Amino acid sequence: MRYILSVVLMLSVTMVDADTGKPIAIAIHGGAGTLLKENMSEEVEAAYRATLEDSVRAGYEILKAGGGSREAVMAAIVVMEDSVLFNAGKGAVFTSDRRVELDASIMDGSDLNAGAVTGIRHIRNPIRLANEVLEHSVHVMFMGEGAESFARSRGFEFVDNDYFYTERRRKQLERVQAGNTETALSEDFTDDQKLGTVGAVAMDSRGNIAAGTSTGGMTNKQFGRIGDSPIIGAGTYADNDACGISGTGHGEYFIRTSVAHDICARVLYKGIPLQQAADEVILHRLVDMEAEGGIIGIDRNANIVFSFNSKGMYRAAIDREGALSVKIFKHQ
Ligand code: ASP
Repeated sequence: MRYILSVVLMLSVTMVDADTGKPIAIAIHGGAGTLLKENMSEEVEAAYRATLEDSVRAGYEILKAGGGSREAVMAAIVVMEDSVLFNAGKGAVFTSDRRVELDASIMDGSDLNAGAVTGIRHIRNPIRLANEVLEHSVHVMFMGEGAESFARSRGFEFVDNDYFYTERRRKQLERVQAGNTETALSEDFTDDQKLGTVGAVAMDSRGNIAAGTSTGGMTNKQFGRIGDSPIIGAGTYADNDACGISGTGHGEYFIRTSVAHDICARVLYKGIPLQQAADEVILHRLVDMEAEGGIIGIDRNANIVFSFNSKGMYRAAIDREGALSVKIFKHQ
């Protein structure tokens, strides 16, 4: 498919599909939390920025080639699931009994179809399995053994739970179990309990919005605990008439306030811009509950928004003008 740069409204340019004339855009996140420049070495910062860029570009390439927003969301998330830097797939955190249990969900805003999996232990890319549920099951959400038996029936490759083992996450678990999260912050610049969940939202050249989220959950989570990430309406939501949202933060609060759906509902019912709707929920409602976190979102005109009440959020986007941005801290 051919792309053109069309000049619109006083020299601002929009990346539009040559066939449909519609804009494309994608945003991703890699978790929100206590992210301070002074706590992060230049090397580590560069590694995060490079992977965020790889991820957002992987999704954008699909959109540029005329692919669907769901495909783009998946491609972007797979890059982060395969990286040890993020709390999803390969780099996931440990449960209190030293295992890895993964959650993921994906939603298609064109027909409100959705797929979700939780408590996954042997599938390398849970977001692919969530998408398989969306495409090939009458159900929306599978847990644990049932999810993996569905994966087997769909020909998924299985990996040992050890595939997800990293020293960094083992040490993190030990520190959290010893009640020593302060040291962790200075030692490896990260928030020990809940940082690094990944997500993506995109709009394709047919105007379809999709959103997806993938996570290992929270360090030291109790066996069987399920967070917001696989719950449609809490961690993930997409509706072509309103917006697409992927969230990250303290999952229990995101579930209790149905964060992703609440934001889209505010857009739809109140007729307010997505940024305002997101800020109402993230900067006010969640803050009132003392809940930390953030979201990425995309509205029906392919405008991208970020909103977070934490010190930082790993994030990147290629907006409707084709401009790339990669940020970690509050402003940079
Ligand atoms: N929301 C995730 C959960 O509670 C964690 C995170 O986003 O950092 O499982």
